[in-house]
Formats: sequence, structure tokens, C-alpha cells
Amino acid sequence: MPTPLILFDVDLTLIRTNLAGRAAMTEAFRGLFGVDDATAGISFDGRTDRAIFEEAIALHGLANGDLPAVYERVIRAYLEALPAALAARSGGVLPGVEALLDALRGRAAVGLATGNMRLGAKAKLAHFGLWERFAAGGFGDDTPVRAHLVRLAIENLAAAAGVDPDPGQAVVIGDTPLDVEAARLAGARAMGVATGSYTVEGLRESRADFVVPDLATPGTLEMLLG
Ligand SMILES: [Mg+2]
Repeated sequence: MPTPLILFDVDLTLIRTNLAGRAAMTEAFRGLFGVDDATAGISFDGRTDRAIFEEAIALHGLANGDLPAVYERVIRAYLEALPAALAARSGGVLPGVEALLDALRGRAAVGLATGNMRLGAKAKLAHFGLWERFAAGGFGDDTPVRAHLVRLAIENLAAAAGVDPDPGQAVVIGDTPLDVEAARLAGARAMGVATGSYTVEGLRESRADFVVPDLATPGTLEMLLG
């Protein structure tokens, strides 16, 4: 039997950080450029860190003709600010996550498909003791395009598990219509989980293959492995 490839989004799918990521980004722009509230008005839902940072840099006219160099400085400052922001905003692991990861052990390859940059995802998940649970992933610093990130996540996870990178065996779990759309574009199935800002109905409208209110919902494991 082929090995199922199960890929999780991070924010509001596995954990809630109470906007620690946004706070660390704001802190980075304040420290480097003296810009207050640099991320005001920028949507974070389902987008990659790279896209969000580049939008904020452009919005405040900070690129100075060298976007890559400015981007590098911003992400360094962001990663420095992130641990304190996580500690200050007591977030948590979302319902059912740990039990589901336990149940998937030995039955599926488990990885990440997240818009977070790799080190950002690591800081967030390590803060809640979850980082070691994931064999591989696709991250927001690999590409600004979420569908590409899912394809990379499938390839990286399959390589780590020693199986074929077959999108037909992959299920992506996320809390936004963008997660669902990216999964479908990559040829994977999508499970929407309504622990973020979208309702069960909203995620159904985005044509997710499965939708659950949270990952503690009975039957979630069977949907993922079925
Ligand atoms: Mg999310």
C-alpha cells in the first residue's frame, strides 16, 4: 500500500501564536527602520512570509534599489524578535493536534506545507514542542508562490520517507482557502480546518475535499488515511 503523505500548515492549523509572528515582524521594521506598525493593513492569511515581507518593504519604500539585501536584514531581525514574541503571547497547540500526530505515526509520512520561512516555522513549533514531529516540508522562503511550496513539500517529504513523490497520495491540511487552492493546484487533496478565521462553510466553498471544525473531530484520521 502506498504511504500517505500528510502535510500540515502551521499557523491556526497546528498552533495559535496570538499574532506573535506579526508582532515580531512589526518589531523588526521598527528596530531597523523606525517604522511603526509596518504590517498594518497587510493580510497574513495563507500567504508566505516572503510575500508579506516584500509587500511591507515596498509599502514603506524601503527597498532602496536592493530588495534582496533589505529582505535579508528584515528576516534576520524578525527571527531575532520571534522567540520573545512567542513567549510574551501565550498561544497554544490547537485541539486534537498532538493526538492526531500520535495516531499518524507509523501510518503516514508527516510534514509541513507552510508559508512560514523554515527557521520561523522551526521557532514557532519548537516553542510548543512540535518541531521534531515533522520529517520535512516546503516553506515560505523556498518560493513566494504557495502552490510551488506545496509541490516542494511533497517532494521533500517523499524523499525523507523514501517513497514516490506522488501528489495523488498527498493531503494538505490548512485553515484558509489559499491553503486549499494551493493543495489542489499541486494535485493533492485538501482538508480545511476551521480553527482560523474561516468557517466550515467558508472552507467548503473553497472546494476542500474534507472540512472539519477542528482536528479533534471524530473521523479526521480516517479521512486522512482513507
Ligand atoms: Mg494558517
